[in-house]
Amino acid sequence: MKTYVIPEYLVERDPRRCIRCKVCVNQCTYETHCYDPESDTIVSKDSTCVNCQRCVTMCPTNAITVKKNPNANRENANWTVEAIRDLKKASESGAVQITGMGNDKPAFNYWDRILLNASQVTNPSIDPLREPMEIRTYLGSKPDHIEIDYKDGVPELKTQLTPQLRLDTPIMFSAMSYGAISLNVHTALARAASECGTYYNTGEGGLDQSLYQYGDHTIVQVASGRFGVHPKYLDSGAAVEIKIGQGAKPGEGGHLPGKKVTPKIAAARNATPGVDLISPSNNHDIYSIEDLAQLNEELKTCNPHAKISVKVPVVPNIGTIAVGIAKAGADIINLSGYDGGTGAARTHALKFVGLPAEIGVKEAHRALCEAGLRHHVELWVDG
Ligand code: SF4
Ligand code: SF4
Repeated sequence: MKTYVIPEYLVERDPRRCIRCKVCVNQCTYETHCYDPESDTIVSKDSTCVNCQRCVTMCPTNAITVKKNPNANRENANWTVEAIRDLKKASESGAVQITGMGNDKPAFNYWDRILLNASQVTNPSIDPLREPMEIRTYLGSKPDHIEIDYKDGVPELKTQLTPQLRLDTPIMFSAMSYGAISLNVHTALARAASECGTYYNTGEGGLDQSLYQYGDHTIVQVASGRFGVHPKYLDSGAAVEIKIGQGAKPGEGGHLPGKKVTPKIAAARNATPGVDLISPSNNHDIYSIEDLAQLNEELKTCNPHAKISVKVPVVPNIGTIAVGIAKAGADIINLSGYDGGTGAARTHALKFVGLPAEIGVKEAHRALCEAGLRHHVELWVDG
């Protein structure tokens, strides 16, 4: 299609250096370069270049330079480069713009500025550089109170505690589905979680049979599309996560394009190879706290040892939502902040929708304390 959009990048080739080896032609996945046999030259089509710099790096004679085009995207106070670029892309393609990864806005992030000074948690304080210190964490519902028996003056815990998830370090891998990432990456996450004494999360894409062996360090997710959910899958995890939504795209579902659905991915997801897999924007069996409680019970029937996590995006009223989830019997609430990652989301949802995880923690904690339910649930955060 003829485009009147001015190219964002200019691809320049130094003819004195170019030896016409065609490496750039073969390396550019955007088909920007092509060889003209009549003139025995390489020519480039600026309009398709995205400035990935692959050809620049691969060219054996450093003949290529890719520059920003000064004529493209002339911005002013009302129209930023980003807005112009988004509008051009949408009008040229006629499609909703999709982006992966996380939010690239320069928002303030408290997590990167938190210092855990472990030496202050004991009295007298200890020197963390000399004394051994553990950061082991147990996750799960805690009892309202505990009873202690004394036998010959030795205290013994009488209250039976519910089984807890044990983390050697209080950091986990957030959910990434098989399909959004490859089996190699899923395997790497599973092995890393096992080595580090923590957990990885399958996301909503089911689980390859080869990874069942890492079940003690696996959180299996149940999302709106129910891809790959069956009794063996549920039983293979240490925790089951009900995904209501995610912070990168609150209120929206998911879409795995058919060309990504290989036979192996289809097998893990109980799906047909080559067919688009759509996750609805809501779970059609959860419209109330009672519905959530019922699903919670069903999952616990399938895997009685599993902790149940419920993942929700941080949105206004997250405190009330957290109280509802706690009342439905969940062990964990996973608060997903607006800068969490995703395999694919609408660009504008990714950039402009949702709230920071920090607000979610504060609001959920406050509401749960007021409701007297804080000790019944743990709060996780992603994003
Ligand atoms: S890779 Fe470099 S040398 Fe080879 S054809 Fe392209 S510009 Fe010329
Ligand atoms: S910079 Fe990337 S997109 Fe642009 S021509 Fe080179 S390989 Fe192609």
